[in-house]
This record gives sequence, C-alpha cells and structure tokens, in this order.
Amino acid sequence: MFGGEGGLDLKVLATYPFLPEASRYIREEGPPLEEVLEHRAFGNSRHLAKEKVFSSLESGELPELPMSSPPECLAALYAYPLARILVSCVGDPFLIRRFSLAEASLARRRFSREDPAFLMQLSQALRLDSSIDGSYRLHFSDFLEATKRLRGKEWKLINHPVQSGYVILSREKFLRVLEGHLRNRFEEELPLEVNEFLLEAFWEDVAKLREMLQERKSNLQSTDLGRITVANFPPCTQGLLATVLASENVPHQGRFALVSFLNNLGLGFEEIYRIFASVPDFRESVTRYQIEHITGRISGTEYTSPECSTMKSYGLCPGPDSLCQRITHPLGYYRLKTRTMSRRSETGSMAKAPTPPEE
Ligand code: SF4
Repeated sequence: MFGGEGGLDLKVLATYPFLPEASRYIREEGPPLEEVLEHRAFGNSRHLAKEKVFSSLESGELPELPMSSPPECLAALYAYPLARILVSCVGDPFLIRRFSLAEASLARRRFSREDPAFLMQLSQALRLDSSIDGSYRLHFSDFLEATKRLRGKEWKLINHPVQSGYVILSREKFLRVLEGHLRNRFEEELPLEVNEFLLEAFWEDVAKLREMLQERKSNLQSTDLGRITVANFPPCTQGLLATVLASENVPHQGRFALVSFLNNLGLGFEEIYRIFASVPDFRESVTRYQIEHITGRISGTEYTSPECSTMKSYGLCPGPDSLCQRITHPLGYYRLKTRTMSRRSETGSMAKAPTPPEE
C-alpha cells in the first residue's frame, strides 16, 4: 500500500511506524531482536527509543526524528518498537498513558502535513471505515470508539451531521479522531510481554524511569490544598479534580473550570501547577501558560470560574445534588457547604463541651 519505487517506502514506514506494513517490514526484513538490542549498528535506534520515552515522561512531547537518509529512517523505524519495549519493562500505567498520548499526538502533527488522499490511505491502513468527499466521512462506530475519552459536547455524536451511518467531519476534527484512535490503540496494546533478557537490556533506564515516576507521585501526594476543603467542593469540580488526580485527561473547558475554581478559592499558581503535573497530556510549557493565563499572572485578568448554566452547557455538570438546587454557581456551593459544615461542627462541639465543675 505504501510502496516507493523500489518497494515499501522506508520514510513512510519510519514516519508512521505503527502501520501494519511497518511491523511486517521489521518482522520479515529485520534482524532478530537480540541483534537490535545489542549490536552497535542499532545504537542510534536504542538512543532514539530512550529519548522518546524520557521525553514523553518529562515534557509530554516527542521530538521529531531526522529522516533524511535511509540509515536515519531505519533508526527512527526501530526506535518505535524499542520504545514500546522500554515502556513495557517499566510497566507503569501513568507512563503507558503518557507515552501513548505523546506518540498519538506526534502522529497527529505528522498527519496534518499530509494531503487528503494520502491521509485517507493512512486512515484506511489503520482499519478505519473512512472516505473523503469534500469533507471527511467516518463510520459512526469508529467515531464513537475513537472519541470515547474526549469529553465536552463538541465530541458528542449528536452534534455532528451523520449521513447513511457516516459522521461528517472537518479536517481538523478528523485529525483529532485519528489521534484518539491511535491513543486508544497504543494504550490497549501496552504493556507488551517482557522477559528477563529485555529487562536486563534496559535495566539502567528502567531504574531511572521508576525513580522519576516515584518522585512525581511523592510530589503529588504532598500537594497541599491549604485551607481548602475538597469535601466541600460541588460534584462537578470534585469530579474534575478526581479525574486529574487519577492521571486522566480533562477537556479544555474542564481544565479552565477547575483552575479558575481553585484560583478563586485562593490556591496559588504553584499549587495548581503541581496538581496538573499529574495529567498524562501534561506539557510543561502549555500547562504553565494556561494556568498563568487563567490566574491572571500574564493576562492581567483573573478569571471567575464558570457558573452552573455554563458548566451544564459544557457537559461538565454530573447532575446536581440537593445543595446544588440552592445555588447557581459552583463557588456558591462551596461557600454554602463550608458555612453549613462549620455551623454543624460548632453546634457539635458546643453539645459535646464539658460542663464546668460545680463550685
Ligand atoms: S449544579 Fe452547579 S455546582 Fe452543582 S454539580 Fe452542577 S455545575 Fe456543579
């Protein structure tokens, strides 16, 4: 399918190493795995593989690899399975999510440079039932599967035109759907089974990555929300915070709602930043910029968190509880619950206060 003049186009396979053709090429044309792991000729592939995994953990982004010559293409092609082996040796769910997301996001950047006909070829090679006819068309079942983690009403099937079972998408949305499909696939495929030989080959990097992951977890556990009582959060922001702390992704509007809510309650930039450092698609520069912007550090405007009606329209209200019936804003919920709880504890402590001894 992706043939160059002399057969398979090596550069295409190196650019999209997750294509079935790429794994077939490695399986049928490549040397045994032992050689790739030990031979000097594959030293560059091993180096690039490590760089991929460390970058995905540190910055959430994968670097573009040089591919201007056949040896560079081969190094990039082999770096992909080697990186997956390294991630599997570590076996940490957070690293798996973060690496999968970073690989999928790199693929989306590359897809965006392709012309529509080639993009369609790629999507069909990924077994997606798609076609192009002025706009991009994707079978609704593939759309639902690929977007199952994307939150917000912009990803609801009901908000897209559907013709004869095919969802009509803009190019930008089609690219996001491809990214979502790949991310799901990568996560589902990992961890691969690893043996002692593989663990030994990567032991130093595995130890370093585990140390970095442990450090990240300790930082997160020591996150101090100060005087703020999470138990008094309304269901919406409690859910958003729990999602972030579980290292799951939160859609853009959800991040805005949570950051502005925490900031309105008095949490500072550094504290909010540390909370968000736990999400798999955490990108240091982007996250820093977003939080600085929302908290008014660079924009000069300190945003107020969205009111309930806006949260509902974003699809971020999980359904009101009884206290929600008395407020129109999540901040109102927090204040009301905090007042109610402190009144209760005062009443409770008065009731339990020891009786002064009789004179
Ligand atoms: S009603 Fe308002 S405060 Fe309650 S969960 Fe929904 S958005 Fe949050």
